[in-house]
Amino acid sequence: MLNQITRDLGRHSFIAAPQAPLPHDQGDPQASLPSRASALALAVVIIAGGCGHSPTAPVAERGPASQPSSQPASQPSSRPMSLVQTASISAQSLREHVYYLAGDELEGRGPATAGLDKAARYLVAELQKAGLRPAFEDSYRQPFEMLIGVQLGARNQLSQGKRAFTLGEHFVPYTFSAGGDVHGVPVFAGYGIRSKDHEYDDYAGLDVKGKVVIALAYEPGDDDPKSPFDGKRRTTHASVRSKVLLAREAGAVALLVVSDKLDPKAPGPVSKDGGIFAARISAQAAKQLLGFDVLKRKKAIDRSYAPNNAGPARAEVQLTIDIERKRRTVHNIAAIAGPAQAKEVVVLGAHYDHLGMGGEGSLSGTSEPRIHNGADDNASGTAAVLEVAKSLGPTAHKGQRKLLFIFFAGEEHGLLGSSHFVQHPPVPVGQMAAMINLDMVGRLRDQRMNFMGVKTAPEFEALARAAATARGLTGTYGGDGYGPSDHTAFYAKGVPVLFLFTGAHADYHKPSDDPDTLNYPGLAAVAAVAADVVGSLAQASQRPTYVKAPPPKKHGGGGYGPYFGSIPDFGEPVQGVKFSGVRSQSPADKAGVLKGDVLIEFGGLEVHNLQDFTIALRRCAPGDTVSLKVQRAGKVLEFSATLTRRE
Ligand SMILES: [Zn+2]
Repeated sequence: MLNQITRDLGRHSFIAAPQAPLPHDQGDPQASLPSRASALALAVVIIAGGCGHSPTAPVAERGPASQPSSQPASQPSSRPMSLVQTASISAQSLREHVYYLAGDELEGRGPATAGLDKAARYLVAELQKAGLRPAFEDSYRQPFEMLIGVQLGARNQLSQGKRAFTLGEHFVPYTFSAGGDVHGVPVFAGYGIRSKDHEYDDYAGLDVKGKVVIALAYEPGDDDPKSPFDGKRRTTHASVRSKVLLAREAGAVALLVVSDKLDPKAPGPVSKDGGIFAARISAQAAKQLLGFDVLKRKKAIDRSYAPNNAGPARAEVQLTIDIERKRRTVHNIAAIAGPAQAKEVVVLGAHYDHLGMGGEGSLSGTSEPRIHNGADDNASGTAAVLEVAKSLGPTAHKGQRKLLFIFFAGEEHGLLGSSHFVQHPPVPVGQMAAMINLDMVGRLRDQRMNFMGVKTAPEFEALARAAATARGLTGTYGGDGYGPSDHTAFYAKGVPVLFLFTGAHADYHKPSDDPDTLNYPGLAAVAAVAADVVGSLAQASQRPTYVKAPPPKKHGGGGYGPYFGSIPDFGEPVQGVKFSGVRSQSPADKAGVLKGDVLIEFGGLEVHNLQDFTIALRRCAPGDTVSLKVQRAGKVLEFSATLTRRE
């Protein structure tokens, strides 16, 4: 499951269990910004619209007393579906799959590991053994490329006149930097912050067009409990991405952030080109470039909370940035079963990738590489889909619909496999009657499991209840079809979805998510529930009725931040933010934004990527009316949206 610990937002964590301290309380400027993984978490927060009350959070916390919100009047008419009981699932077989997939030999199934390939081979062999047909013509594999690493190339240089600076001692490029050569005179923009709320503007009176902006890391009074910038707790203004956005908006050609973390071997997270040249530099290098001591300026700002910038130095800075971005082919694995003449399919899926040796999605609290075995996340779901495939495959010809069993790669890095799959489906998406997703189903406690997405089709809740009850389980039901796992990609394309999940725990995204922590009889029960649901859907006379779900119901707690209601498309590497959908009745919907639109400007800020959008959105307040530009069918269209409060 995608990491929902929203580092940068600092609250509304998906995981109710004890958390690691927020990483941005220490470390380098990069840590405080939406790194790739946390940007995705942010994205999901945007998706969810109501962080604390979205499907990403509430079900496990609400507990059994929670009643499903009842709005039957607004639902399309539907006939109840009868439950078809299928065979039982062997806890022992599930245990064997999990012990293999989550064993150290598979290296945590990270996108860059040989372990992921081993897992893929294992799944293919199991599907073959079960006699299931390949889903992609004659192959079980659907290849796609993902970005798996960045490193610094050989040509990184920073100089001013005859003075050349040393990589690692004086400067280190950010991994999200643009590449190539750039030059300009340096200017000092304090902390590089503009904040209406704080009546603070480091750019006031400063012309940075075509220049190289040098700015301090973080925000004024970082160590001052009484700082107007939320005491010692960092605000969004402290993030490098926020500084990048402002520098770019002001017309700077490059941003150099003063930092004492200059390790060229650890340049930062795997990122796409952020649209500006950006690097960290030492305070000493900043002093050389500008001709004064920036740390003295820092002290002055920290004392007064008043901006203290400085116009251009005389000599130009030359900057060459060389970032190598490494890509790799990974595979979705899928098989199909059922009557050849049937057009519709029921999809049962689980992601089989995990975090490998750690990295950004990890909550281990250390940057030391350690194998993240991912037993619950998501060897559990993978094993369950395998056993359901074996159990249902042989009798699938009796159904009304085909069954498609799929194992996604790239989930932990942004639902990449499922996004690719719905964009390149072997069966048209319109013929997918339903998608059932299993992600983290190995920790059944008190015989209680969660179903999300029950409002995405009116038939679902009764069917889910019947299936849970028949297997001796109690369900908790959440309506929304958007959440931090692969079903989101399907729901955004108009497919009703159900997401089965046994709840969060303290080992989530840690090396301790090990095979010996799972409840195998519980996993077998959940797999049997999934099999019954899938079997029932395959045999029902009618397919479930897709419902464009309303945003999650508001309940309790303080809302926070502005809400727009768009759903970013994780799979498309375009400039800007492509929307795979908009929530019905959301500000985005009311403004006229459509799925497929690519957001390029929001509230007067250029949007190059998701981080930009997140920051641009957070600069607004609920109730604000903002103008935005999207690209649609080769044209740029302008809209205005009135933001509401994120609940
Ligand atoms: Zn995960």
